[in-house]
Amino acid sequence: MDLLNALVDKGLRREPPTRDEALAVLATSDDELLDVVAAAGRVRRHWFGRRVKLNYLVNLKSGLCPEDCSYCSQRLGSKAGILKYTWLKPEEAAAAASAGVAGGAKRVCLVASGRGPTDRDVDRVSKTIDAIREQNEDVEVCACLGLLSDGQAERLREAGADAYNHNLNTSEATYGRITTTHTYADRVETVRQARAAGLSACSGLIAGMGESDEDLVDVVFALRELDPDSVPVNFLIPFEGTPLAKEWNLTPQRCLRILAMVRFVCPDAEVRLAAGREVHLRSLQPLALHLANSVFLGDYLTSEGQAGRADLEMIADAGFEVEGAGERTLPEHRAGALAAPGGGSGPCGGADGSDCAGGTDTCGQAGGGVPPSAARTDLVAVRRRGAGTELPPNA
Ligand code: SF4
Repeated sequence: MDLLNALVDKGLRREPPTRDEALAVLATSDDELLDVVAAAGRVRRHWFGRRVKLNYLVNLKSGLCPEDCSYCSQRLGSKAGILKYTWLKPEEAAAAASAGVAGGAKRVCLVASGRGPTDRDVDRVSKTIDAIREQNEDVEVCACLGLLSDGQAERLREAGADAYNHNLNTSEATYGRITTTHTYADRVETVRQARAAGLSACSGLIAGMGESDEDLVDVVFALRELDPDSVPVNFLIPFEGTPLAKEWNLTPQRCLRILAMVRFVCPDAEVRLAAGREVHLRSLQPLALHLANSVFLGDYLTSEGQAGRADLEMIADAGFEVEGAGERTLPEHRAGALAAPGGGSGPCGGADGSDCAGGTDTCGQAGGGVPPSAARTDLVAVRRRGAGTELPPNA
């Protein structure tokens, strides 16, 4: 296929596809799907080999958010029966992080629900980073605390955070239908602040919120413009009790096309397979490893992922290898401070229904001619173990 040959050539040169080429990837047929995966897989292997980076989420503060992000189980007025708790103590967060590291994670993502941190919250997170580093000196730490105020990114960087996650989630044109309590421009500004402070920027999207192909291409090109080191790709988990509970728009094939498009547009960024992979890719998850070079291990913020052991087995069975603590994630030209463990810039991303960390959910828009898949509410399970509970984490 001429299109795919052209996209591979561009990806190997770090040259972006045109908007029409990106749209054409999303419009490919199921007959062409394996060719699309193979082509994007060439770009992935060129920049990241067969390595898969594991990331582990720690939900420092769950639920009770005053914001109204439609996709989020922690939103204002959410009826989802999720765990609700206020800030974990530093030692509790460090214990959860250690479980993730023991399971193979080289990055922990510290997430808190809410519009953004107070200065006191930044102090708490700084102490939590200290507690984590006491137990795991070399682990990368990403913070995901919502919208930042002046000076907070710098303080997090000084406290030892390597990265900051804040997702754009969807296109600027559709953002107002997803959230009314803050704006797309607010989000862009926080990503810029994080980068300016020397934090590695992590920013991604949520697919499956009823968006069109054009919306998806818009948000991915906007992300390329912001140039985050890592791009989490979430697939909406339609939580009962949220406005987007009925949005079951994705098929496994559609998810693979979206991931391939992201890889072609952001060829040398860490593309992270994030929340919703179990729910929407289902038995095709291993094919996604040919596109993404990074995944979350175990559970998400408020929902359960597959068992951590199953993640490791899937990676090995698909012929990939877990990236070691001493290996560099990013290609040399963009490795920056993260070249040295504990150093300083890297990605993060999120989670299941919160954007503070990368959530997933939908708005109410017609979606790009994609046939809806049957609702699989049986695949959506609220997290009941790990941080904030007495039960051991899934890692
Ligand atoms: S995504 Fe974050 S800001 Fe939005 S409702 Fe959820 S926890 Fe609050």
